[in-house]
Amino acid sequence: MTKHIFVTGGVVSSLGKGLTSASIGMLLEQRGLRVRMQKLDPYINVDPGTMSPYQHGEVYVLDDGSETDLDLGHYERFTSGVLTRDCNYTTGQIYQSVIDKERNGHFLGKTVQVIPHITNEIKSVIKRMGGDDVDVVITEIGGTVGDIESLPFLEAIRQFSIDVGKENCLYLHLTLVPYLKAADELKTKPTQHSVGQLREIGIQPDILVCRCEHSISQEDKEKIALFCNVSTEAVIEEKDKDFSIYEVPLSLVDNKIDELIVDKLGLSSASTELDITPWTNLIHRLRNPRHEISIAVVGKYAEHKDAYKSIYESIDHAGIANETQIRIGRIQSADIEREGAEKLLSGYQGILIPGGFGDRGIEGKVESIKYARERGIPFFGICLGMQCAVIEYGRHVLGLTGAHSSEFNKDTPHPVICLLDEQQNITQMGGTMRLGSQPAKLMADSKAEAAYGQQSIEERHRHRYEFNNEYRTQFEDGGMVFSGTRPDGGLVEIIEVPTHPWFLAVQFHPEFKSKPLQAHPLFSGFVGAAVQLKQNKNQSG
Ligand code: GLN
Repeated sequence: MTKHIFVTGGVVSSLGKGLTSASIGMLLEQRGLRVRMQKLDPYINVDPGTMSPYQHGEVYVLDDGSETDLDLGHYERFTSGVLTRDCNYTTGQIYQSVIDKERNGHFLGKTVQVIPHITNEIKSVIKRMGGDDVDVVITEIGGTVGDIESLPFLEAIRQFSIDVGKENCLYLHLTLVPYLKAADELKTKPTQHSVGQLREIGIQPDILVCRCEHSISQEDKEKIALFCNVSTEAVIEEKDKDFSIYEVPLSLVDNKIDELIVDKLGLSSASTELDITPWTNLIHRLRNPRHEISIAVVGKYAEHKDAYKSIYESIDHAGIANETQIRIGRIQSADIEREGAEKLLSGYQGILIPGGFGDRGIEGKVESIKYARERGIPFFGICLGMQCAVIEYGRHVLGLTGAHSSEFNKDTPHPVICLLDEQQNITQMGGTMRLGSQPAKLMADSKAEAAYGQQSIEERHRHRYEFNNEYRTQFEDGGMVFSGTRPDGGLVEIIEVPTHPWFLAVQFHPEFKSKPLQAHPLFSGFVGAAVQLKQNKNQSG
C-alpha cells in the first residue's frame, strides 16, 4: 500500500516548500524507500509554459516534454524517482479535464460541482501516483493555506485520508516562526493561526516544520505543540541556511524528521540506517574550495533570481565538482548594449548565455559572445545562447553581414537560425516547439565528447528555432565544429570553436539534468576551463 505525505504551507509564501519536500524525499530514499514526488498548483494556467519568468520563475522541462513548475527541479536534483507529466497538475488542467468529461456526457446529466467532481478529479491524479513500485508519494500543494484558490486541493487531500485510511496519510505543514527584533522574541501566533485555518477545513497536521531565523526554544516548541494539537517532537525547526540550500536535508535529519515520518506512517520496509555521507562530504567540499572564480550569466531576466534557477544551480554543482567557489554575476543583456561588454564583463573568467524568448537584449548577448570569443574567455551558450553564438560567428567571422535568427528579423539576408520549415527539404516540424528528451550523437575528439565521456547522449529541449543547415558547410569551412547532431545528422545540437579554450554552445537545456552530487559534464567542463584561465593568468602575471 502506497503511503501519502501531503505538504502544505502557511503564514507567507516563498517558505521553500519545494526544497523541504525534496529534502524529505531524498531522506526517505536514503532509507531505502521508493519515493515519487508531485506538485499541485492552484493557478488557472494549464501549465507554466506560457507564463512570464517574471511571474513564475523558470519553466522546468521534463524528459517527456511537459513544461512544469520549478519545484520539480528541486525534486529531480534531490531524488532519483522519474518525474512525468503526472507529477504536476494545475487548477487549469483539473478543470479542463472535468469540463471535457462534462461535454462528453460522462456525468450523465448531473450538476457538475467543485465537490465532488473537481475534488474527485484531484484525488484521482494523486492516486495515480501510487502503485506496487512506490512506497511513498509526496504531494506538495502550491500556494498558502487561506488562499481561495487552494481550497479545492485542501478539501481533496482531506477526503483522501478517508478514502485510503488515516494510517496511510501524513499531513506536513510548513510555517513561519518570525523573530520580532523589538521584542527580542520568536512569535508562534502566526503558526497557531495558520494551523487553526487548516483545522477549520478538517485537516489536522501531523508534523509542523517551522521556518525560523533563530532556534526555537523547547518552551516555544511546547507552546506550538499545545496550541496546534501535535506532539512536541512533531514540531521540527528548519532554521535559515545562510551558507547553502544543501544544508536543509542535513538539518532536517538533525531534527529527526525521517524517523518521525517512518514511525508515523509505519514504513516497515525502511532501513534503520540513514547514510548521508555524500551530502556531508558535499557541504565539506563547498566549505573548503581550492579555487575561486567569477562567472557572468548574461540574460534578459537577470534581475529575477528564479528565472534561471536551474542554470544557477548547475553552476553551483560544477563548482562542487571542481572544488571551486563561484561568484555568479547576473548581468542584463540590455545593459551590455548600453554600457559595453568590456565594462561589465572584464572581471569574469567565464560567460554563460542562457535560453530565452523575445528580442530584447539580443544584441547585448551577441556582443558578450564576441567579447568572450576574441579574448579566449570560456563561453557556454544554452539554447538561445547557442543561436546567438551562431549569429555572432556568422556576422564577425564569416562576414555574413546582417546574419540573424528569423525569430527576430524576418527579412534578414542571412537567416542562420530559422524554423525548420523555412529550410529547404525539411518540412516535418514547422513552428511547433521541440520539447523534451531527444538523442544526439557526439563527434569523436570533440570537447563535448571529452566532457561526456561517450558519444550518445539524451538531453531536454524547449525551442522552435534551429541552426539553418544551408549554412553548415560555410560555418565548417570558417572553423566552427558541429560536435553534436541529431543521430541522423539532421539537426545541430552542439557547436564548438576548437581553437578557443572553451567555446561551446548547445541547442538543448543541460541545466535540467545536473544534480548536486553529479554535476552536468558540460557545466563541469566550462567551470574547469574558467578555473584554468584564472590559473594561467596568475602564472603569467
Ligand atoms: N527562442 C528560441 C527558440 O524558440 C530559443 C528558446 C530557448 O532558449 N529556450 O528557438
